[in-house]
Amino acid sequence: MVVIEGVNKHFGDLHVLRDINLTVGKGEVVVVLGPSGSGKSTLCRAINRLETIESGAISIDGKELPEEGKPLAELRADVGMVFQSFNLFAHKTIRENVTLGPVKVRKKSKADADKQADVLLKRVGVEAQAEKYPAQLSGGQQQRVAIARSLAMGPKVMLFDEPTSALDPEMVNEVLDVMVELAREGMTMIVVTHEMGFARKAADRVVFMADGQIVEVGTPQDFFTNPRSERAKDFLGKIL
Ligand code: ATP
Ligand code: MG
Repeated sequence: MVVIEGVNKHFGDLHVLRDINLTVGKGEVVVVLGPSGSGKSTLCRAINRLETIESGAISIDGKELPEEGKPLAELRADVGMVFQSFNLFAHKTIRENVTLGPVKVRKKSKADADKQADVLLKRVGVEAQAEKYPAQLSGGQQQRVAIARSLAMGPKVMLFDEPTSALDPEMVNEVLDVMVELAREGMTMIVVTHEMGFARKAADRVVFMADGQIVEVGTPQDFFTNPRSERAKDFLGKIL
C-alpha cells in the first residue's frame, strides 16, 4: 500500500532522512518510534509531499507521488493525516468540519456528506457534539473529530503523528481506543507515538528511527523484549 524506497532528505547540513526503505502492506499497522529529532515527522510529511524529498520514491497503492497539481491533490485525498494539534476549522461546526472535504474534493452531495458525517461522528463517539464548534469540545473530542474528518475522505492509508501527545492524560485513551478500533477494522496505518500500550495492542510492526535512519524493524513483542541496537536499548530504557 505504501512503498518507500531509498528516500533521502536534508535540512541544510542536517541529513534528516537517510536512505529510508519501508513497505507497509494493506491493512498493516506500523508504529514509528524514536528519539526527538530522529526524523519521524519529516517521514510522515514526506508521505503526502508536505515535505519534498531529494532522492528515492514513495508510492501509495501503486501510484508514485506526483510532484504537484491535481494528481497530487488526488493522491493526498487518499492519505489521511492526524497531527498532534487538532487543526479543526474553528468557525465551522463539528459536522461541517467533517462534510467539507467530501463535498469539495469528493463531490458528494450535501445530504450524503451529512449522512456519512453522522455515522462517523457516532463511530468516534461525538455524535452529540455535531452542532457545536471546535472550541466547545475537549481536546480528546476534537482529536476524535479530526479522525472522523480524515475518514470521511475514504483514505487508503492513515498517518498519525503523535496524535495524543497534546492531550491531557485522561483523554489519551479515548483517542487511542478509536485508533485501535480502526486498526482492527483493517485500516492501513502509520502511527508515530510514544504510547507503548497502543504499539503492543495494535501494531503489526514497530519501526525504530534514530538520526534519520531506520535502525530496527520488528514485531512489538520482539522490539520491546529484545531490542538489538544500543540506540534502541537506550531509548526503551528512557521511556519504559
Ligand atoms: P519529535 O519526536 O521531537 O517530534 P521527530 O522525530 O518528529 O522529532 P522531525 O520533526 O522529523 O523529528 O525533525 C528531524 C530533524 O529535522 C530535527 O533535527 C529538526 O530540528 C529538523 N527539522 C525539522 N523540520 C525542519 C525544517 N522545516 N527546517 C529545518 N530543520 C528542520
Ligand atoms: Mg515529530
